[in-house]
Amino acid sequence: MAGKSKHTARDRAKVGHQSPFVLDISRLGMRPGSMITYSDTVPAPSRIGIELIAIPQGAPVTLDLRLESVSEGVLVSGPVSAPTSGECARCLTPVSGDVEIYLTELFAYPDSTTEATTDDDDEVGRVVDDTVDVEQAIIDAVGMQLPFSPVCREDCPGLCPECGVPLADFENDPEPHGHDVIDPRWAKLAAMKTVEEDQPDPAAGGRE
Ligand SMILES: [Zn+2]
Ligand SMILES: [Zn+2]
Repeated sequence: MAGKSKHTARDRAKVGHQSPFVLDISRLGMRPGSMITYSDTVPAPSRIGIELIAIPQGAPVTLDLRLESVSEGVLVSGPVSAPTSGECARCLTPVSGDVEIYLTELFAYPDSTTEATTDDDDEVGRVVDDTVDVEQAIIDAVGMQLPFSPVCREDCPGLCPECGVPLADFENDPEPHGHDVIDPRWAKLAAMKTVEEDQPDPAAGGRE
């Protein structure tokens, strides 16, 4: 992509490096109906996702795209998939999985007749120097697809509100985890603590 570069808001984030999501369409031509495919697995240039779950930076992102020339630009469509990792929103256990989105994104030619009506529309991508940048479209679609509150399993019981331990650890115990009665394991600790507090080691006083 030699020559002048025209940076839009979409491009700003990747200035200075060549994103693997910038696709060369010089083979496509502008005749409506022509089509090329782009199938590749590329490393995610950055973490892609939402707060608790995302495609990690560098994770393999598989693109299986059709790039079709249409009258006003280039229509990019097809599945994009990648592994995800994050943490359970209830118990903070690491969770991993996969995300697959189906991309359908129109990139308008710089001089296309739709420009007048889409000048202020940040949602419409542009063909720039015979390339289209699908990164923002992938970021948007993955963000919509990923669960806002991922869980390690549907019935994850979360953390104990009293002491913060994962309640799943106690599921096989005969007694449910709780704090109404002191757990015998803690009772011993509590007793030791009380002894220490009530009867300070006489040696401690003279140590300093
Ligand atoms: Zn969980
Ligand atoms: Zn507890």
